[in-house]
Amino acid sequence: MKIWLTMLVAAVSLNLTANDLELDHSLAYKLTESLTVEVGARIAGSSADERAVVWAEKNFAALGYDKVWREPFKMPFWQRGAASLTVSAPFQQSFVVSALGGSIATPALGIDSNVIMFASLAELKKADPSQVKGKIVFINKSMQKDKEGNFYSEVVGARSQGAIEAAKLGAKAIIIRSVGTSLNRFAHTGIMRYSDKVARIPAAAISVPDAIQLEKMLALQPNLTLRLTMQNKLPGTVTSHNVIAEITGRTKPEEIVLISAHLDSWDQGTGALDDAAGVGLVMAVGALIKQQGQPERTIRVVLFGNEEGGLLGAKAYAAKHANNLHNHVFASESDFGADRIWRLDSGVGKNSLAFIAELQKKLAHLDISLGNNDAYGGPDVSVLKALGVPVVTLLQDGTDYFDYHHTANDTFDKVNPDALEQNLSAWLITTKAVANSDIDLRK
Ligand code: ZN
Ligand code: ZN
Repeated sequence: MKIWLTMLVAAVSLNLTANDLELDHSLAYKLTESLTVEVGARIAGSSADERAVVWAEKNFAALGYDKVWREPFKMPFWQRGAASLTVSAPFQQSFVVSALGGSIATPALGIDSNVIMFASLAELKKADPSQVKGKIVFINKSMQKDKEGNFYSEVVGARSQGAIEAAKLGAKAIIIRSVGTSLNRFAHTGIMRYSDKVARIPAAAISVPDAIQLEKMLALQPNLTLRLTMQNKLPGTVTSHNVIAEITGRTKPEEIVLISAHLDSWDQGTGALDDAAGVGLVMAVGALIKQQGQPERTIRVVLFGNEEGGLLGAKAYAAKHANNLHNHVFASESDFGADRIWRLDSGVGKNSLAFIAELQKKLAHLDISLGNNDAYGGPDVSVLKALGVPVVTLLQDGTDYFDYHHTANDTFDKVNPDALEQNLSAWLITTKAVANSDIDLRK
């Protein structure tokens, strides 16, 4: 055990060389800029998504990757249409509204109805159908800021499940307070779900200031009516792609160290924090490692398609590579904005915790501490983790992430180059440590 540990320490130590000083540590930032400026918003299945795929293939090749290819998968395409939400007399005003991803349209003239407010999805579930039938449900649950983004999971149920629960009680439509932490007047979109067992009703989010406004109006006038119009389209099944590139391993080419991000974004901003920064980061990692010589194991960079619609690219990847997942020795994803990394979490076998502890020592100068062994590796990578692939998560500071998440305000100017450079350093150290070792992280 002791000898084994010493060897590991030596392997990790080798990764920090004088070459590190010569690397272009702004490469991740430049790639993030390129994707957001040259492609911009790229909702899965759209022509912009296809342009992003071509952008990725072209840039992987230019960066010197040994192999570049795309893998197709089928997906239902959703297109946003114009949306409006207005309130009747005595407070005739309009709200900032955004359709939730996947929502059906309203009738052309909209839905006019009384509104009933709930503090949370849990409160809606307890409601009497007679209170809800024929109305527009409004879920007004606020979200708090926190470094780990823990409040997201408490609030996002209203977005993903709200239409199902409201329809069960006979509602005509649902609007939610945006799943976001900013008082800026932007509505946050995101995927929502339907059930085959209940009616499909239109679903939208209003900005946080508008939710506060609507609550005040309802306190004065409980009988006010809202008119919601949305012209979304569901054109049917289309093809999207995962884009994959590799730096071939020198001595163990069959062993895959998978690093990833998702290429698609929502359609309102330019998907800079979510997830162009992650794309730029992992593309730069492989390229910069190759600049220092081929790694022992193969580094595979996967840019997953259609994460936002429900991890569809990740599921397609897992199905296509099902017979080779035993050769995936490691997986991780960057998909939590572009702020500094502050903690290393792992999802590895017990015998590998010493390796993770040594890795954290190599990251300590970047102010990265050691966390727990409950990591899921990132949204797309969680699909692989569930199939036994070992993962780590380099946790980014998510305090401000949900100010911009899925809004028109998620744009390149929000990316801090110094923070992204710190991310790049951490990813280089981590990826090299695994790619140049023999460690079996499953054990
Ligand atoms: Zn994302
Ligand atoms: Zn997202």
